This record gives sequence, C-alpha cells and structure tokens, in this order.
Amino acid sequence: MSADRPTTAPADSHDVIRVGGARVNNLKDVSVELPKRRLTAFTGVSGSGKSSLVFGTIAAESQRLINETYSAFVQGFMPTLARPDVDVLDGITTAIIVDQERIGANPRSTVGTVTDANAMLRILFSKLGDPHVGSPNAYSFNVPTVSGGGAIKVQRGKQTKAVRRSFEQLGGMCPRCEGMGTVSDIDLSEIYDADKSLSGGALKVPGYSMDGWYGRIFAGSGYFDMDKPVGRFSDRELDDLLYREATKIKVEGINLTYEGIIPKITKSMLSKDIDSVQPHVRAFIERAVTSTTCPECDGTRLAEHARNSRIGGVSIADACRMQISDLADWVAGLDEPTVAPLIEKLHAALESFVEIGLGYLSLERPTGTLSGGEAQRTKMVRHLGSSLTDITYVFDEPTVGLHPHDIARMNALLLRLRDKGNTVLVVEHKPEAIVIADHVVDLGPGAGSLGGEICFEGTVEQLAASDTLTGRHLHDRARLKDSVRTPSGFLEIRDATTNNLRHVDVDIPLGVLAVITGVAGSGKSSLIHGSLPADADAVSIDQTAIRGSRRSNPATYTGLLDAIRKTFAKVNGVKPALFSPNSDGACPNCKGAGVIYTDLATMAGVATPCEVCEGKRFDAAVLDYRVDGRDISEVLAMSVDTALEFFDDGDARTPAAHKILKRLSDVGLGYLTLGQPLTTLSGGERQRIKLAIAMTEKAGVYILDEPTTGLHLADVEQLLGLLDALVEAGRSVIVIEHHQAVMAHADWIVDIGPGAGDDGGRVVFEGTPRDLVASASTLTGRHLAEYVG
Ligand code: ADP
Ligand code: ADP
Ligand code: ZN
Ligand code: ZN
Repeated sequence: MSADRPTTAPADSHDVIRVGGARVNNLKDVSVELPKRRLTAFTGVSGSGKSSLVFGTIAAESQRLINETYSAFVQGFMPTLARPDVDVLDGITTAIIVDQERIGANPRSTVGTVTDANAMLRILFSKLGDPHVGSPNAYSFNVPTVSGGGAIKVQRGKQTKAVRRSFEQLGGMCPRCEGMGTVSDIDLSEIYDADKSLSGGALKVPGYSMDGWYGRIFAGSGYFDMDKPVGRFSDRELDDLLYREATKIKVEGINLTYEGIIPKITKSMLSKDIDSVQPHVRAFIERAVTSTTCPECDGTRLAEHARNSRIGGVSIADACRMQISDLADWVAGLDEPTVAPLIEKLHAALESFVEIGLGYLSLERPTGTLSGGEAQRTKMVRHLGSSLTDITYVFDEPTVGLHPHDIARMNALLLRLRDKGNTVLVVEHKPEAIVIADHVVDLGPGAGSLGGEICFEGTVEQLAASDTLTGRHLHDRARLKDSVRTPSGFLEIRDATTNNLRHVDVDIPLGVLAVITGVAGSGKSSLIHGSLPADADAVSIDQTAIRGSRRSNPATYTGLLDAIRKTFAKVNGVKPALFSPNSDGACPNCKGAGVIYTDLATMAGVATPCEVCEGKRFDAAVLDYRVDGRDISEVLAMSVDTALEFFDDGDARTPAAHKILKRLSDVGLGYLTLGQPLTTLSGGERQRIKLAIAMTEKAGVYILDEPTTGLHLADVEQLLGLLDALVEAGRSVIVIEHHQAVMAHADWIVDIGPGAGDDGGRVVFEGTPRDLVASASTLTGRHLAEYVG
C-alpha cells in the first residue's frame, strides 16, 4: 500500500466515520468524527465548505473505493476518480448521494420509469389486462413494437429481410412517435419566404446563401426557376426543393450531390446535440422545429394494443396519467387474490410518493420537467423501499421546495432511513430540519478562504447555546413589518389554467415585494412561470444550468474577464486578446482548457490536468505580463472579495471590473473563485450569479424561485436587503418562497392551495402578511403565525 493512502482503521471504526486532515477546496486540514447510524446535519454559511467535506471528501472517497473493487478490466471503462486530498478516512460505508441534480435529460425517462412503479404496473397489466396482450414488455414504451404477427423488418445494407420474433418480444412502443409521445414538425415558413425567389434570397436556413456554392448547385441542378417566387413553385419544384433524395448532378463540369433541404438539414443540424451547434444555428433550430403531441397515441407513447388493454376500464396509459395519490387508491381497490403480493408492493411504492409529498405527480411526468427538490425526492423514493442497511445516505438540502407543512413528513422519512441502520448525512439551512439531528457539524466561520474550519460539533441544544453564527440564528423569529409598500399598479392574470390552475383570476401588485406561497405542487410555478401576461417585461432568475462551455466561469459569464483583460493590456502595452484563455494567449497543449479531456464512448469524459501549463490555461509567455505583481492566472484564482480589494486601488484604471465584482459580492458570492468552472456551482449559486447580472438589466419585473436555496440564516437577511434595494429602485419583485423570514418581509402575499395537484390550483389568500397571520385561514397562515408569534 502506498504511503499516501489513508491509514487503516482503528479498533473503534465500526462506531464512527473518522476524517483526518481533509484539504479539499477550502478545507483547512479538517478532522472530524461522525457517529454511525445517526443523523448528522452540516451547517454553516454558503461557501463555508459543507459540500467540500460531505460530497467532495466523504462521498467521493466512498465512490472511489467502490470503483476499486471492480476488476481491472471493468475499471478500464470507468472514469478514474482522484483520491480526495485527505490524510485519514475510515469507517466509511457505501455512500448513496441523493442530490438535487436533475435526473438525466433523457426524454424517455419518466417518474414511473426511474422508480420501480412502471415495471410493477406493467406486470400487473400483463396478468390482469383485458384483452390479454402478452408479456410485461407489451406495455413498455421503451421496447419497439413488432407488427405483422411477430415479423420485424431488419435493414442490413441494401437487403431487407424479415426476421421472426417470438411473442415474448412484443413491445409497447407507439410506432409513429417511437415512444416519445411527441412528434417534431418543421415550420416551413422558417425554411423559406414564399414571396421571394431563390435568387432573391428566399431561403432562411443558415448557410444557404445563393452567393456561394449553394447558389451554383441550385441554379445548375436545373430543377428550379431561380427567379420565380417560391410561393408559385409547382408541386414538383417544391418537392425537389424540400424533399428530393440525394442525387448526383454535374455543375460546371464538376460532379456534385443535390439533396432537398429537409433531409439535408435533418442530417447536418437536427440530429446533432443542440448544445454542440453554433448559436445562430441553435436559434434557427429553436425557431423552425416545433414539437406536438403524437396524434396516434395522444402522447401516451404506447402502441394501440397496450392502450386498449384494460383493468376495470382503466388502461395503463390512464393509470400513468392519474395523480399518484389517486392511482394508489385505485390499486388498493383491486381485489385479485392471485396477484395480492404484487398489488401490495405496488401500493407501498405509490404510498411512499404520497408520504414524501409527491402524491400530486403522475407516473408519466418526464423527469426532465421536475424541479431540483422534486428530483431529489423522487430519487429518495427509490431508496425508501430498499432493505439494504449500513449505507451512508448523503442529502443536499432535502427540504428545498417544501412548504413548512411538508417538512415534518420529510423529517420522519430521514429518521426512518436512520432507524433502518443507516448513517444519514444532511447539508441543511432550515432550523425546522436541523433540529432533528442527533449530531451537528458547523463549518465556517466565513466563506471560501475565511471558512473551511470546524466551528462546532455536538448536539442541537449545545449548538443553540454556542457562540457560532448558526447557533445564534437557530431560534430566530421574524417580525411582521409595521407598514407595507403601496403598489404602483397590478399585473392582471385572468382565467389561468396552466397545469392544475382552476381558472385563476388574480392581481399581482407591482412596485412592491410580492411573495407567492403554497405547498409543493399547489401551482405556484404554474401561475408565475406559465400564466403571466406576455407583455409583462419580466426576467426570470432561476436555478437551472447556465448554457455555456466547460470553460465558462464567473469571470467570463459576467463580462468581468473583458474588463480585466483590458486592464492587463493597458498596463503592459499589448493587445487584450492575449489574456483570453480561449484565444491568443491559450496554452497550446490544452488549448486553454487547463485539462485534457479523454472522451470515452460509454462514460462521461475524464479530465486530467494539463502538464504543460499545470492547469493555468495560459501560454507561459503571457504569464510574464503582470498588474501590480500578479499575472492573469493568479488574478483568476482570486475570490470575488480578494479581487474587489485588488482592483480597488484608487486610480481610475478599473471601474468596470470593480462594478461587476461589487455586484457579485452584494448577492453573497464574495467567496466565489473567479475562474471556478460554472459547471461546479450549486443551483443556489447559479441563481445568485444570474441575479447579479439581471440587476443591471432594465426589466421591470424580477421573478425569483426560492432564492434562499443554499443560504444560511445569516445570508437571508442580506438577500432581503438586496430585494428591498431592487424595489426601492422602482422594480417589481415576485418571489416564490417557503422561507418564513421572506414571507414575513413581503408587502403582499398570494397563497395558492389548499393542497397539491388536483387538490390545489386556487388562490386561497391574497393580502398582507399581517392579515394572513390574523385570519389563520390557510396552512401557510397558521405556520407563519407560529413563526412570528
Ligand atoms: P458550501 O457547501 O458550504 O456552500 P462548498 O464546499 O461548496 O461550500 O465551497 C467551499 C469553497 O470551495 C468555496 O470557496 C467554493 O468556491 C470552493 N469550491 C467549491 N467547489 C469547487 C471546485 N469544484 N473548484 C474550486 N473551488 C471550489
Ligand atoms: P408548485 O410551484 O406550487 O410546486 P407547480 O406549479 O410546479 O407547483 O405544479 C402544479 C401542478 O402542475 C402539479 O400537479 C404538477 O405536477 C403539475 N405540473 C407542473 N409542471 C408540469 C409539467 N411541466 N408537466 C405536467 N405537469 C406539470
Ligand atoms: Zn405516439
Ligand atoms: Zn495547458
């Protein structure tokens, strides 16, 4: 065993997970012991190092050790995980990470397919469905349907041969949409302008300029009158223009291929990963390709035989479309002794959705449309039924997206996982969730280089009595404001029916801080994201991934790098492009990426640091140019707050850089490293970066979705100050929130409910927080009354 491995386990390792000398990211040689089979909460301001310890050190090492147990052959296909920078790590068990990452963007994955629910439902229909159509696969939209009595046509080169398939292989995929539930249509008005001729520039597809080669191919093909408006083309001409198969033609003595526009762009643009094409091509695709519900299966993704087989009048498509809480009742009502154990198991799985506060979802819901919190809870369902023990479960703010009313249920589930003999590690900010912990580890005291230390370990009672920032804020109570602002106008929403909304009429006040509340799934997002009037001039600042390359970082994304480059250029008398890791100044070996990517066919790419620039991304010559003694890579390694001091040197050299840095610091990102890849930011951090940029825009209405995600109690006050500043500057702020300090601070509250899904979708209260508390007529009102009481 090499010297840099963690030392072997001491005698007491079966009772604790022991971490010694952890230095991942900002951790300062951290040592800590975590009791096994207990629930430990990790607290501290954002950027203090909670994720670096829990995910970056403990979970990462567990995953690496699991990978090491595979044979060398299998390991050859897996990404090589670097050992986290830690001296001692023992007592760890298999870690399962239940985080807020979206569950794959695979359009074939639904809530039903990623849990066991669909599989069990298919077995149920294969046993009880009438007419009886076969095996479970006959109900699967991910298995191709075999037509013509079990014969399938297989294309091999130019030969087509019929292959017999056994009955068991009969799939359930809708043949028209191949199980996608939607079909794509190309909007021809985005392909050509019918009033113009080809030579007059009728084609609107990027790259199809008649001045270049295409013009010569089109003219030389002899298929068209180049000067006739396309709207007056004969059927034959239009067919050749749009659909003609690849045909060899001779133009100006050269052999060329002519192919209709639709097959051509299908191959060259539409079949590519949308994120890999150039921005102007992506914009064209987004305009030209529309997707509509498949007319054959009505979006159910299923073939006819699967749709028509029923149990008591209910098809599998109907079942997947039901709200899960209703489906659970339907399953419980089935009286069929032959399959009693299956019914019981399916019912238990569906009930765990209800328990976890997801009863309003349906099994057919694509996982790509779930919010971060919903995705995390869906993953949790997969583990609740598991009988494995001695697992280390790692959660990232499991209460995200949950109303105070739902938190008690989430707490009960976390404790149930613990009581089955598992170790539960939870990163949390909400006091209601922290208080159930057996053990608390508080990181800090600050963020980034000002954090990375253990400030406290012990029980919740000890934490509350401790002189830590978390301890001092643990029993914070908000006060209702004495007066609220007067609206400057209203956004009128009329007859909103998006998703579960029941013909909602509501006026959202402008020029104030308006907060939208309600239990998860009640319809808050449907109201705000789906129903605002089109002319509302609103910007939505959400937590979704930021589009960009693997090289994007806070500096490039905010425009800060431009300002810094200009400073470097001016001081050194050279051109700014030299200081861009994406152009002239790039390290020639890694082309400015800092790492070398090895893309494997089956796995995510593996990145290893570039040996030439040692990850600095720049050509060595560029690093000779300095500003105040620092080179460009040293500046990009600074945190926002450090850079703020560096560029605040009193001379008027850097006002642009200073302004951007100040805004990043104002939104609570002072600890963020300028060159940190955007892909490593959390959802909450992404939202705050977007907020920093949006604050400079001229939009009238700002919409934020749970902006307190990832924020420590102490940071919430800063956020409220920022929202107040926006309102004072004449903007309107609409916030979807569960955090009671934000509710108490609102000028106006719109409460949606009373329940989730079919049981929600109505406005149950609108008015000031004070009136909400006084009337205590809704769940939100009763919880808020307790909080401010
Ligand atoms: P928390 O979970 O408490 O919010 P993190 O562990 O995410 O804090 O971050 C701690 C520090 O490490 C911060 O300064 C953050 O910017 C930095 N950091 C986190 N992830 C990375 C990364 N992948 N690369 C470089 N720095 C990182
Ligand atoms: P909230 O924001 O209050 O958590 P949502 O507006 O997200 O609630 O959801 C309200 C209802 O609409 C729920 O029943 C949910 O399942 C449904 N819903 C939300 N988004 C979609 C979607 N993209 N497709 C289908 N149903 C959806
Ligand atoms: Zn279909
Ligand atoms: Zn390099």
